[in-house]
Amino acid sequence: MKRKDFILNLIYYILPMVLVIPLSVWGISQMSKATYDCFFVMGTSMQPYLSGDKNNSTYGYSDNSDYAISRLERFDLVICYYPFGHESDYQLPYDRENPVLLDSCKLKVKRVIGLPGDSLVINDEEFSISYTVNNQVVTDSYNEENCPFQRNKPISNRHATISLGPNEYFVMGDNWTELGSLDCCNPTKGGTPTCLYKENIVGVIFKLEGTCTYKEKNHCKACKKIVDDDCTKCRCGSTQFLKYNDIDTKTPYDKPIYIK
Ligand SMILES: [Zn+2]
Repeated sequence: MKRKDFILNLIYYILPMVLVIPLSVWGISQMSKATYDCFFVMGTSMQPYLSGDKNNSTYGYSDNSDYAISRLERFDLVICYYPFGHESDYQLPYDRENPVLLDSCKLKVKRVIGLPGDSLVINDEEFSISYTVNNQVVTDSYNEENCPFQRNKPISNRHATISLGPNEYFVMGDNWTELGSLDCCNPTKGGTPTCLYKENIVGVIFKLEGTCTYKEKNHCKACKKIVDDDCTKCRCGSTQFLKYNDIDTKTPYDKPIYIK
């Protein structure tokens, strides 16, 4: 083979392979980051917007990609874990470098009230959010009339004054009543308001799909798949199981509701 042909062959056959393999690996890694996950609501903390009864719960989908989480907007709904209070899903004291989730951890559905850099003042029904746009501080004030989401009444014991740093968020359930949501404003009943960190946010809800029923089911601790109650070893090889609630039956809406 002539030297010129050899070089042409090299370009023709080898170069595409050299390019295609890294590109497909990159493509697969991007795909694996854009994961959608099904969620359902338990409990009353997101009333009146979302139902969390075991015979009538709202279910839908969240986008768990870094892309979605990094583009969170005020009043979005998120799936998260709590790093605080007796609701903590992590070993306490919370270690931001190496957060350790407890076996008893439970994902929460909450609404984002404050984004990184925001300053919040919450005074029961009325709250204000200050943030900087083009080096100017803007303050949005909300009351019962112009609040962009509905809250359960009577609103009680919701007080906070907090400034959020980088990667710090302030999330609340829509149920602001006395026995309503335990959240950043009310981490333990009457406790000091606190923030949630970006690493505690698992996904951003973009679609409500319907109503479901849920009940306690046996799950593999390693792969999280549902396994029969009498199962002693999961297909993945794990022999450790956890019992927690999961969707039992689904009744989809006529049309899903897109909220993002
Ligand atoms: Zn398994």
